[in-house]
This record gives sequence, structure tokens and C-alpha cells, in this order.
Amino acid sequence: MKSELSTTIMERIRDVPDYPQPGVLFKDITPLLGDPVAFAAVVDELAGLHDVDKIVGIEARGFILGAPVAYRTGAGFVPVRKKGKLPAPTLAESYELEYGTATVEVHHDAFTPGDRVLIVDDVLATGGTAAATVELVRRAGGEVVCFAVLMELAFLKGRERLTGVEIRSLVIV
Ligand code: AMP
Repeated sequence: MKSELSTTIMERIRDVPDYPQPGVLFKDITPLLGDPVAFAAVVDELAGLHDVDKIVGIEARGFILGAPVAYRTGAGFVPVRKKGKLPAPTLAESYELEYGTATVEVHHDAFTPGDRVLIVDDVLATGGTAAATVELVRRAGGEVVCFAVLMELAFLKGRERLTGVEIRSLVIV
């Protein structure tokens, strides 16, 4: 049986066909963010998952979710950004896309060695972004305790690229 929260989330994530390119069914979380009760329920759920030192948010929608979770839990917030956006020295991790590659970065000094880390994003699709972020956090000295998303697109099998990582998806479709 589906939980009340997963129903709330599913009802507030809008499918946008052919965005940002033909063939992609984009999962738009803005209706959820615009509902104060649903947004707060999601933040509370993510905040209750684990006792951690740092919340990592993946650009850009992971920032929107991760920052209030950090505030709620008393953890620090660490942004993982697309290449070239962070001002101080960084560590970088590249991964394959369907056409070409993408790179994510984190500040080299973002973690105290052994920091327990919860990574937050909106959607788990092929898992490339998540796997690169896990690797970055580990290289930067953090211990990845959990990777959490609002929605997992199970047919893209992203989970298989995250072996050894606890994955919490509030909705799996
Ligand atoms: P992936 O690396 O393929 O798992 O893609 C995950 C990243 O791309 C996340 O940061 C998502 O925000 C975004 N993303 C991928 N596919 C979708 C989708 N269908 N709808 C919304 N966001 C997506």
C-alpha cells in the first residue's frame, strides 16, 4: 500500500512531455514546492532519515530540498554544482551522458574527514549524477550515509549504479 506522503508527492509532481528535449518526460516538482503543507512534509521526512553532519544538495533542485533539510536537522549544507560554478578550489567528477559527458564539482574543503553525509536530489534517473556525487563526497573525505530523492524512475535502473549506498526514494515509478 502506498503511504499518504507518497500519494501527496505523486499528486504534486507534474509530467511535462518532451522537456528539455523530445522523448524526455520531465518530472516537474514546482507544484509540490508551491504547496506549503506538502513541501514541509517532504522536508520533515528527509530530515528524519538519518543523523548526519552535512546535507549535500545537487544543483539545482537538490539545493531547494537540501537547504531546508540542513536547517531542520542542524546539519551543514554543501552544494554540488555543475562545472565552473564554485569559486574556490574544487574536486571534480565526470560521467557519461547519452551524448557527451557532464562534470560535477564540490569545494575540496567542504567536509571534515569522516563527516556523515546525506545526499539529496529531486529525481533519480540513470544514476550518473548520483554516482558521480557519491564518488566526489568520498574523495573529499565524507562518508555517504544515504542518497535520498523525491522520485526514482525505476525503469532507468539508476539504483544499479549506486551499489553499497542506501537509497531512499519517497516515490518509485
Ligand atoms: P541521472 O543522472 O540520469 O540520474 O539524472 C538525474 C539528474 O537529472 C537529477 O539532478 C534530476 O534533477 C535530473 N533529471 C533526470 N531526468 C529527469 C526527469 N525525467 N525529470 C526531472 N529531472 C530529471
